[in-house]
Amino acid sequence: MFEQAEVYADGTVRSLGCFADDGRPVSREELVAAIGELPSTDEFMAVMCPPGSAERLALPDHWVVRLVALVERRAAALVAERADLVAQLAGQRPGEEDGGRPVPEVMDVSEWLPCELGLVHPYGERRAGRVIRTSLALTSRFPATLRLLARGEIDEARAEAVVDLLEPLDEQLAARVEALVLPRAPEQTPTSLRASIRRCIDRLGPEARERRHRQAQADADVRWWATEDGMARMAADLTLPAAAACGEVIDGLARQLRDGGDERPIGQLRAEVFQDLVLRPWTERPGVGVSLVVHAPLSTLAGGDEPADVDGHPVSAAQCRELLDRVGALDLHRPGGGTLEFAVHDDAGHLVAVATRRGLERGARRAGLRPPPPTTAYRPTQGHRRFGQVRDRRCRHPHCNRRVGRTDLDHVRPWPHGRTACDNLCCPCRRHHRLKTHARGWRFRLLPGGRLEVATPSGITRVTDPPRVLREAGSAVPVRSGAPPGAAGDPAMAPRGGDAPPDLTGCPF
Ligand SMILES: [Zn+2]
Repeated sequence: MFEQAEVYADGTVRSLGCFADDGRPVSREELVAAIGELPSTDEFMAVMCPPGSAERLALPDHWVVRLVALVERRAAALVAERADLVAQLAGQRPGEEDGGRPVPEVMDVSEWLPCELGLVHPYGERRAGRVIRTSLALTSRFPATLRLLARGEIDEARAEAVVDLLEPLDEQLAARVEALVLPRAPEQTPTSLRASIRRCIDRLGPEARERRHRQAQADADVRWWATEDGMARMAADLTLPAAAACGEVIDGLARQLRDGGDERPIGQLRAEVFQDLVLRPWTERPGVGVSLVVHAPLSTLAGGDEPADVDGHPVSAAQCRELLDRVGALDLHRPGGGTLEFAVHDDAGHLVAVATRRGLERGARRAGLRPPPPTTAYRPTQGHRRFGQVRDRRCRHPHCNRRVGRTDLDHVRPWPHGRTACDNLCCPCRRHHRLKTHARGWRFRLLPGGRLEVATPSGITRVTDPPRVLREAGSAVPVRSGAPPGAAGDPAMAPRGGDAPPDLTGCPF
């Protein structure tokens, strides 16, 4: 059966009637009973004018905006479908069975489910945890919100607003607030929906808001993360009055600098005031030990343009030189209280060895450079640790970039089945070390070249490579057995701290 209709450019539709396959006229009720609900006019137009077609490109603007709205409704419906699927997967990953700790943000589900979902799609584990929490809350506690989402009347951001603000409340209060705010939600932005929910909570359960405020204070922290262009952003969770007071002080001090003749932009002055208030460079205070690992080709230190890597963050050649100049590490001698080690890579960028200057000279005179030898003991040697940390730099789990602790060098194939050697050791962060030790059904393999293969219980496989030395194609010179790396070979180096003057002319490498 089918319906024949005419669609006009102004969006009106005129039905020409419903018909059986043999051409016999039928009623609309018979048609719906036979093939289900008919597509909307917008869906009909989306099918008749597919993406990239001449018909789609010829659509007038009022049809284009109708299709934009249709796509938004479809995207919301897909999020609702994902919520059902994620909740189903969560039902197959109960928290008690995998030896992991209970994780409140994903309720009573295995704490390793965000890791697994993070390999299905590269959300990042924090985002994956949020997707799981939202999916579970929508399917169990907020079905009315889920229905609006499935119909495309609200989007993901508004569904998350409902879950974020109502999920911590007791069931009765949450249900009352949800019933009050949902009717207006399709017409609100996510921000105004959040404001409506907060006002409603204040009216119906002021003690709940106070409880959340105390919890937010208990969860407060200071964080920083790298942004673009060699910059980073630092954020602190403060109470509103405290943040306002800090902002006033920072702004006032910045304006004093400007009134004193500093012509830099006011934002830059505020950032500098903030930095000085934390670091307090005008006070005498006990020294704080800082360890930074710098990976840079020697050509960069001598003025070249190849980028470098400071503690896992890419920086430009100029920024790297400025940093090393400040700590006086540019003369490539071991600084007082610090260490200077050379990480030597082959022409494919694979780490060959980590050695001190004396170790490099010894390797050149004798059998060449190679990774530290295996041991029959369970505990890796200091050489294994140094090699693993320089090769991996950060956690090797897919999509993870966390710092690696001093003790987190793990046998990929458990000892004694797997030996204690560089080709069976890699660096996970503390969380992924625990995942590998406790979670059931995960498989890990270390492949040649330090590649790590990770397979989830559901069969998703991802492979990560150790970070390579950053260099222009074709500029690498292979390190040969029995010969030291030449000056043009540019072995990467890893200096830590120091205060000697910069002078590259005496460098033997
Ligand atoms: Zn990790």
